Amino acid sequence: MFAIEKPLPAVTEDGAPYWEGCRRGELRVQRCTGCAHLRWPPSVLCPKCLAGGTEWMALSGRGTIYSFIVVHRPQHPAFFADAPYNVAIVELAEGIRLHTTIVDCPSEGLHVGMPVEVVFDRVNDEVTLPRFRPRR
Ligand SMILES: [Zn+2]
Repeated sequence: MFAIEKPLPAVTEDGAPYWEGCRRGELRVQRCTGCAHLRWPPSVLCPKCLAGGTEWMALSGRGTIYSFIVVHRPQHPAFFADAPYNVAIVELAEGIRLHTTIVDCPSEGLHVGMPVEVVFDRVNDEVTLPRFRPRR
C-alpha cells in the first residue's frame, strides 16, 4: 500500500517572492506601481490599469472569512482522509482575497465575517502554505 501525495502549488519564477515570503512567515502580494492595485496570483501586467511596473508588498495577515464551503466528498483521493474539511476565501484587511483553509476551528464554528489571521504551514523545503485561524 502506498500513500497518495497531495498536489502542491507550483513555485514559478513569477510567484517566487510570494513563496519565499511564506517560508519567512510573511504574506506578500504584488502591488502595481502605477495604480497601487493589489493582485494574487502574480501577473506581468496590472489587470486594472495594464501598467507593467510591480513591487511586492507585505500584508497584515489579518482579515475576515468572505466565503467558505465544507467538503464532505473530496474529488482527489489524497484528501479522502481529511474530509470533512473546509475551503475558504479570506478577504484581507488590504482588500485582496485569497483561497485558503481555516485551521484551529471546527467547520460548524465557521461563519462569514469571522475575523481570522494567517498562520504558516510548512509542507516541505519549497512550499509553505498560508492558512488562517480565528483571530483571538
Ligand atoms: Zn495598475
